[in-house]
Amino acid sequence: MAASIKDVLPSTCSVVIPSKDSVLKELLPRRWMQQTSSSLPASIITPSTEEEIIEVVKYASANSLRVLPAGGGCSAYVVVNGKTIYLDMQNFKDVTVDTTKHVVTVGGGVRWAEIIGKVVEKGYYTAWTHFSSTGVVGSSFGGGLNSFIGMIGYSCDQIHSARVITAKGDVLTLSHESTGQEKALFNMLRGGGVGLVIVTSLTLRLHKISSLDIEEGGKAVDYTAMFPPPAFEYAAELYAKLTPITDKRFSVGCAIMNAPPGMPISGPVMMISANFIGTLEASKAPLEPLLSEETKSKALFVMPKTTELARMTEQADGRFRNGNADMDAYNAMMTRIPASTVRAVVQRWIQFNEESPALAAKSTLVMAGFSNAGPQAADPERETGFCHRERRFLGQVIWTGMTDDEIRLVGPFSEEILAIFRKEDDAHGVPKTVFPNNMRAGTDMTQMYSTAAKMEAVHEVKQYWDPEGVFWNPAVNGWK
Ligand SMILES: Cc1cc2nc3c(=O)[nH]c(=O)nc-3n(C[C@H](O)[C@H](O)[C@H](O)COP(=O)(O)OP(=O)(O)OC[C@H]3O[C@@H](n4cnc5c(N)ncnc54)[C@H](O)[C@@H]3O)c2cc1C
Repeated sequence: MAASIKDVLPSTCSVVIPSKDSVLKELLPRRWMQQTSSSLPASIITPSTEEEIIEVVKYASANSLRVLPAGGGCSAYVVVNGKTIYLDMQNFKDVTVDTTKHVVTVGGGVRWAEIIGKVVEKGYYTAWTHFSSTGVVGSSFGGGLNSFIGMIGYSCDQIHSARVITAKGDVLTLSHESTGQEKALFNMLRGGGVGLVIVTSLTLRLHKISSLDIEEGGKAVDYTAMFPPPAFEYAAELYAKLTPITDKRFSVGCAIMNAPPGMPISGPVMMISANFIGTLEASKAPLEPLLSEETKSKALFVMPKTTELARMTEQADGRFRNGNADMDAYNAMMTRIPASTVRAVVQRWIQFNEESPALAAKSTLVMAGFSNAGPQAADPERETGFCHRERRFLGQVIWTGMTDDEIRLVGPFSEEILAIFRKEDDAHGVPKTVFPNNMRAGTDMTQMYSTAAKMEAVHEVKQYWDPEGVFWNPAVNGWK
């Protein structure tokens, strides 16, 4: 056994070995979520070359350690502990836009924020997530919800090819042309790809902005309406009128929370936001319920806005800029959210806000509705690792600025809200599912690989490519 990982790597490669006094949050400042399931890693390594990564993988294999590649640091499900070599991919930052093949190739540590401008500048868009600090690889491994979903599907559906390092230290290029076990691995990476290989670069399909009928200057449309408590019943009905989404250019969100600073009122508000990849004029008919005189009379405001595609993901809210936001998130994907569900969720949150105002102030309940036309068309054969293509609702309980004790306290309330979200689907015998990107540590993984066939497939891929568990996939390796 090598004395130390430092012995097998060049002195130029950054290696940090924590001491017993090290503090996890200080060691991993770029992680966004709470880390109550994690403890100090064996080491943190920041490689710059594929050769260095191969040495790390071989060292981990020889020493029964686990390599955990990290990109944007946004996931809540990642568990770090004494067996973990935390592989910070931040030096893998190349971005190349190929206008002949209509693809972009990005390094394994690139975040969406680092490519959007470069892609738009050349006249293209792709399925970047709503929030652009997420890693391109990490968010594509768990789906990738985005504003273009109705038209082109999830981020994972854009994956054209991937350059990967396997648990044996082999370098492979995987693509739609791959065959046999390589094809099985490539398919699983697209939406079910956590803990199978290390991606050093990913190539994604691009789509021409000129094919979109949007506002001049390449701008898309969004509307935000804010409702005070007397109009909550109306807002719940309105959300149900706007969904399920039938126009593939739309996504609609509904949030309940305490009004952020600077708003016309304080205390509980409901917000309905609609995102439309089209012109203001074209948005008027399908969004009529939101733009009606009745809605304007009930809402504090209904605000239309047009935004350049390159700026769509900019976050107005400072909490979401810098990592270490001590966030937590619970989610469920559904086939339906009727008005009765919205009402029940809102009522339960208002009760919670009265009982525990300090905790409620850190919460936002979100219901997202989106078209499933893009996801269904992108993978009609259901080959990719992503399982929930027919679902078109996401329900979430999001917490920010939480202490470890608070995280434990809000667990039962969060689970209760998920149960309300799922009640209608339960009544129709629809299996429970989770959106993989936003799942927490400890999630029942049959909710991610939600068909028996997909669960079997991920076990087979893992057994073939990584039988010793050099990488970590919670469905196969568990949550420790
Ligand atoms: C504020 C916020 C907003 C979000 N908004 C959205 C959204 O709009 N749409 C959406 O779909 N999701 C969203 N997410 C969820 C996000 O997509 C997931 O958390 C995703 O896992 C983030 O990937 P990452 O690289 O940032 O995270 P990391 O924690 O670094 O990585 C996530 C997983 O990917 C693996 N991984 C990362 N890079 C590599 C690599 N190069 N090779 C192999 N494995 C790798 C990691 O090992 C880990 O298992 C959001 C998250 C936050 C915190």
